[in-house]
Amino acid sequence: MSVPQEYFKAGKIASKVCEEIAKSISIGDRAYDICNKVESMIKNLGGEPAFPCNIGINSITAHYTAEIDDESIIRNGDVVKIDLGVHINGYIADTAFTLSFNPNYDFMVKATKDVLEEAISIVRSGVRVGEIGKVIENGASRRGFKPISNLSGHLLQQYKIHGGVSIPNVWVASTPPLKANEVYAIEPFLTTLDGSGFVVNDNKRNIYALIGRKRTGNKSLDFLVEEIWKRFKTLPFTARWLIDIFDKKEIKKMLDKLTQMKILHAYPVLVEASGKVVAQFEHTLIPTERGAIVLT
Ligand code: MN
Ligand code: MN
Repeated sequence: MSVPQEYFKAGKIASKVCEEIAKSISIGDRAYDICNKVESMIKNLGGEPAFPCNIGINSITAHYTAEIDDESIIRNGDVVKIDLGVHINGYIADTAFTLSFNPNYDFMVKATKDVLEEAISIVRSGVRVGEIGKVIENGASRRGFKPISNLSGHLLQQYKIHGGVSIPNVWVASTPPLKANEVYAIEPFLTTLDGSGFVVNDNKRNIYALIGRKRTGNKSLDFLVEEIWKRFKTLPFTARWLIDIFDKKEIKKMLDKLTQMKILHAYPVLVEASGKVVAQFEHTLIPTERGAIVLT
């Protein structure tokens, strides 16, 4: 069995977008514009966003994307994580980087990047995922930081961002080995030693995914469900992606209703438990007997 070519193309698009976006972000930029720009750049390069562009400022660690009426802007002193996914026919490349606009965190950002490189350097088929976690945990601690222990990398499968195997950011015993011809994302998140080292759910939710494609008994909700299925299948999406045909004031309520009906899953925004700043880097790769083929 070999890896579908779409993964390689998705990876190239993802890394190109990262490179361009990293150069373009500056203080004063709106989160809304950054997310839109990432997503339209993906489309212009021939891919589809695999999930809404995640933007995590400071202690916001994952699962936040710009709202329809998002007011947040990048300020001097912020640490900004951008996590983006590209898919082609459901084959996903997932990648992330962090920009520091605060000299106090420059070293933590660089440390996170270096820890990811260290983790990738031990990747080969047969290496247990817990060993990757050990390299991340030790690499973080050696540099004076803490990994976020309840976030992890993951196996990628067609139309599935989390394919059932997690790659921990800390040492875990008795874990499965990485397999050749499978596609994985590795994504260390680091925080400062005075942080909790884990994330908790925030009250906000603005990323959704279809989990039960069924009738609601309401014509406009049924239409929305079919539109979601047509556009995104089971991949995550957000309200911003539906305002071309749905009313800006209504869409959020409709999505919340579908969430209550268990037709949608809404992902809670994840924040560092003690409110400390978090940095993240991520690459998608394929293990071989000799090492990793990095797609992003
Ligand atoms: Mn990601
Ligand atoms: Mn990921």
